[in-house]
Amino acid sequence: MNFKNFFKNLINIKTHPAHLPYVPSPPSHQADSSQNPIPNDTSYTEEETSIHTIAGTGIGFGKRKFIQVDNQGQAKDLSQSQSHIIGTGRIVNKVEDIAGICPFCQLEAKEAFDKGLLSFQEAQSRALYDTQSDSQCDICGTNTCSVHCRPIQMPNDIVQQLCVACQKHLKKQLLKQKIIGFLLSPFIEER
Ligand SMILES: [Zn+2]
Ligand SMILES: [Zn+2]
Repeated sequence: MNFKNFFKNLINIKTHPAHLPYVPSPPSHQADSSQNPIPNDTSYTEEETSIHTIAGTGIGFGKRKFIQVDNQGQAKDLSQSQSHIIGTGRIVNKVEDIAGICPFCQLEAKEAFDKGLLSFQEAQSRALYDTQSDSQCDICGTNTCSVHCRPIQMPNDIVQQLCVACQKHLKKQLLKQKIIGFLLSPFIEER
C-alpha cells in the first residue's frame, strides 16, 4: 500500500467496525487431555481480544488480555496493550481517542519514512492526532494537531489560532510591511 492510499483509507477512520463481544471460553478438559499427554495437567489459558483496527491499515488499538493459569491454579497476567505513538508524541491505545490526520504531522512522517527513520506503520501512526490535541486554524480552517496550530497575536491585537502554514504566510506579510515601512520612513519623517 502506498502513502496516498493509506491516507485515503484513514479518512474512513470513524467507520471502524465494532469489535465482537467477548465470549469467555472455559477450559475444556476433554480437549486438553487429547492434546496434552500429561493426564493431571489442568493448566489453561484464557484470551480476550479487544483490538480496533483503522480500516485499510495495520494500525490496531486496544488490549489483548491473556491469562495463563498453571496446574496449581496460579494465574499469570500476560496481557498486552496495543498502542501507538502519534504525531504529538503521545501514546494512544484507544481508537476512540484518535481525532484525525494532521497534514503537517503527515508531511513530517512521510519525510521521516522516506529517510528510513520510521517504519511504514510508525509513519502511519505519526500522521494521527488525538482528541486532546484537536485544533483548527482560524484563518484557513485546516484541522490539525495542537503542535501545528498555535495562538498568535495578530496585527490587530486579536489572538487567533494559526496553523504553521498561515503563521509562515503572516510572517512574510509582516516582513513585507516592515520593509515597505522602512523604505517609506524618510518620507514619513519629513512630514
Ligand atoms: Zn501536527
Ligand atoms: Zn491555516
